[in-house]
This record gives sequence, C-alpha cells and structure tokens, in this order.
Amino acid sequence: MARYTGAKCRICRREGGKLFLKGDRCYTDKCAFERRAYAPGDHGRARKKPSDYALQLREKQKVRRMYGILEGQFRRYFDEADRRKGITGTNLLMLLETRVDNVAYKLGFANSRNQARQMVRHGLFLLNGRRINVPSIQLKPGDVVEVRNKTAKNLVINEALETVARRGVPTWLESDPTNMKGMVKAVPTRDDITFPMTEQLIVELYSK
Ligand code: SF4
Repeated sequence: MARYTGAKCRICRREGGKLFLKGDRCYTDKCAFERRAYAPGDHGRARKKPSDYALQLREKQKVRRMYGILEGQFRRYFDEADRRKGITGTNLLMLLETRVDNVAYKLGFANSRNQARQMVRHGLFLLNGRRINVPSIQLKPGDVVEVRNKTAKNLVINEALETVARRGVPTWLESDPTNMKGMVKAVPTRDDITFPMTEQLIVELYSK
C-alpha cells in the first residue's frame, strides 16, 4: 500500500479525534476537526452503532496513522510486541514511541511526526554523534539525538522549538533546546503516553 498523500485533516475526522498531524495549525481554531467533528463524506454524519470489529479497526487505523506507519510495518511492530515479554498492547506503543522520528518530534525538533520523518530521511539529525537517515531506528536509554547543523538558518527547527512548550517534552526524554539536543532517559511506560489510545482493541483485532 502506498503512503497516504491526501488531506491530513480527513484522517482526524475519519478517526473521530485530533491526531495532531499538521503541527501548529492543530492548536488553532483553523483545525478542521474543531469545525467539523464528524467523518468526511456524504454519510459522515450518519449515526450507526459501530460493530466490535469496526471499533477495533478504527483504533488500529488511528494509532497507525498517528505515527505515520504503513500497514505491513505496523503488523511487524505488532508481531514484535507479541514476541516480547509483558503486555502486548503496551509493548506495541513503546516500540512506536521510541522510533527516532517520534523522539525528534517529542523533543520539539519538528512540528509533526511527518515532518520529523522527512527530516530524519534528509539526514538532519545525529544519533550518538553519527548521521542517520532511517526514521524507524529504535532508541534506547542513553541515546542522544541532536540537530546536525546547529545554525540559525534552521528556521523550521527553531520555529518548532519555540512551539514545543505547548506540547511539553515527556519526562522520559531530556531536552536541551539551546544545543538542539535531547536524550532518552528511560524506556517510556504506559503512563507516559497521555494520548487516548485503547491498544487492547488493536490486540483483539490482530488476534482474530
Ligand atoms: Fe487533525 Fe486538526 Fe491537525 Fe487537521 S488541524 S491534522 S484536523 S488536529
């Protein structure tokens, strides 16, 4: 399946919640979900009781789209989460949270995960001093992510850093915005993820 390149706000409206896919705009009253909090399309406002399967599918799609992962890769994350010790749903979220593109976004180097992924692909970051260009790299405690060319010309990064206060940096990360640097302090726990997600529904979907 190819990467979705259509309107991002349609995704939020389809999934029934703000997924913060467009950076700054998501915090303004221009947010499409604030204006039209129903699914897109002719039947978007139709009231229909969703089946259990529909609830599971929508939850999986919501999480997958929020992290910007394609179906095949998402399934591989699930299989890996299932193989690991502990609760599968929590393992899945931990795997997604510790991707380097997500960490760069959470540290405030980008306005959205999508933007962070592009920046990683373009080699704008160093991981432990080495240039990287793979957004799916998994980080572990002690790993340091920093911007490669720390110049005032990094307008996008400087802008993103100014707005990160609105989102807040999670406690499992240590941010050093002055030096455009951040470190993973610990593996995130389920309590560190405040965005509403019911990962159990995803486990039920894939366990059928
Ligand atoms: Fe979603 Fe609103 Fe951001 Fe659009 S502006 S991506 S609807 S949160």
